[in-house]
Amino acid sequence: MDISTVCVHGCNKKYDSTGAVAVPIYLSATFAHPAVGESTGFDYSRSLNPTREYLEHTVAALEGGTGAIAFSTGMAAASVLMEMFSPGDHIVSSDDLYGGTYRLFDRVSGKNGLTFSYADTIEDINAAIKPATKAVFIETPTNPLMRVIDISKVAELTRERGLLLIVDNTFLPYLQRPLTLGADIVLHSGTKYLGGHNDVLAGVLVTKDESVNERLRFLAKTTGGCLSPFDSYLVVRGIKTLAIRMERMQESAQVIAPWLNANDKVAKVYYSGMGGMISFSLRDEETAKKILERVKIIQYAESLGGAESLITYPMLQTHADMPEEERNARGIDARLLRLSVGLESVKDLIADLEQAIGGPA
Ligand code: PLP
Repeated sequence: MDISTVCVHGCNKKYDSTGAVAVPIYLSATFAHPAVGESTGFDYSRSLNPTREYLEHTVAALEGGTGAIAFSTGMAAASVLMEMFSPGDHIVSSDDLYGGTYRLFDRVSGKNGLTFSYADTIEDINAAIKPATKAVFIETPTNPLMRVIDISKVAELTRERGLLLIVDNTFLPYLQRPLTLGADIVLHSGTKYLGGHNDVLAGVLVTKDESVNERLRFLAKTTGGCLSPFDSYLVVRGIKTLAIRMERMQESAQVIAPWLNANDKVAKVYYSGMGGMISFSLRDEETAKKILERVKIIQYAESLGGAESLITYPMLQTHADMPEEERNARGIDARLLRLSVGLESVKDLIADLEQAIGGPA
């Protein structure tokens, strides 16, 4: 079955006999037992809930995994992931990554005894591996500079060295399937393309190994950051249109990126060629700020992957907690903006950018 069909039909599991085409929202915290020592399969919603399970099976199918666990946010998923490791363990991570993940590594997991090295090329990742290294964590394309890392090549390396490969696939669901390329765990901020409508927060961890899934499920039910039934339903509903949304956003981004490149106020465009995320650096800081104030259709807001196009100032928003010198070293400065291309007409988006970049002061 094509993945676009998987998106529409989800895991197709039926929980009742009504023939309901949409998965019901099971707003039940707990489930009654038929007899002592018996269970319907559902006991208490922190561990398992039918609507959330439907979403989990759906994302597992979408990513080519065998199991998935849904969380209240992407960061809740990332936090549980960090609970898999013990003090003294070392993780090699993408250098250019979502600022909130960097904050988790640097300010929380780091304080709890994990150590991190940051590297963006396969050579640097290889060189950063030490005896204490347990995992490699990558975002590709990277955030916000859209560098692409070859997942298969990193997977070859992690397999050889006996390490877990974790890929944050928030930017490219449907267009990129890291588990099929050799990754062990996929992380999603379901808030973004999976949900797709800027109306729900969610996170998902997807696995292909049953023992890794069991370990994560134990940690998830123990720490308790599970996704509510209603929010699970919203993400299932979002995924139904994921394929068509990703294709449309990519098509528009492939028109907008060269348009930006040809604009003389734009110094550099960062686009991986896939998906709907584009970063661009202006020749001066003033123009960057003016764009944020002048856009009319595109909204100046922190997030991505929804129907509405959003423009973000990474320096003040997604990467605000990164120390200034680290940020500047990565090129995340006052001239850099990040655009999440939405579902509006590409002509309207370009007209909006044009008036925002070039309009009178
Ligand atoms: N990973 C990436 C690539 C993100 O962009 C984000 C949020 O912006 C997260 C993880 C965290 O997800 P959430 O905001 O759902 O906690």
